[in-house]
Amino acid sequence: MLINLGPILCGETDKISFDYKTDSPEDFDDIHFTDAVSVSGNIVNMAGYISLTLKASVPFSTHCARCWKEINSVFNLDFCKGIAAKNTLQNEDTDDYLIMKNDSVDIDTPLGEAILLSFPITFLCKEDCKGLCPMCGEDLNEGECNCVKKEIDPRLEILKKLLDK
Ligand SMILES: [Zn+2]
Ligand SMILES: [Zn+2]
Repeated sequence: MLINLGPILCGETDKISFDYKTDSPEDFDDIHFTDAVSVSGNIVNMAGYISLTLKASVPFSTHCARCWKEINSVFNLDFCKGIAAKNTLQNEDTDDYLIMKNDSVDIDTPLGEAILLSFPITFLCKEDCKGLCPMCGEDLNEGECNCVKKEIDPRLEILKKLLDK
């Protein structure tokens, strides 16, 4: 979405609000974006400093990193940037600002980048997901399997060696 800042630049208003849907980013790894991204927020002018604040909701599906159950969820992102005219910043490479072009600012490109950068790498179906048994593959959330557990805790191994001396 390209937002025209004309009304702010000419002093007609101090605030422009927006609410729209935009295409989701490309799928990556095991993350599938299932629907359009909802974006809402505003651009405000505070004594000449123009800034953008928005919230984005990104619906996606993936699998639990421990038990591989399908997860359908929504990732929420808060996004804040200053907005500057071209050639007014000492360093235009800074990520803190969006640069205006022809009195407009493009939101979707930087937002898409921010979503990909901040998206978590792994998800769990629940915080204490027990995962699958490494031996039989049974879902341990649904009960213990019959495998003989031979747990070797590396810390205990070291302790045992010390005690054996
Ligand atoms: Zn799980
Ligand atoms: Zn098992």
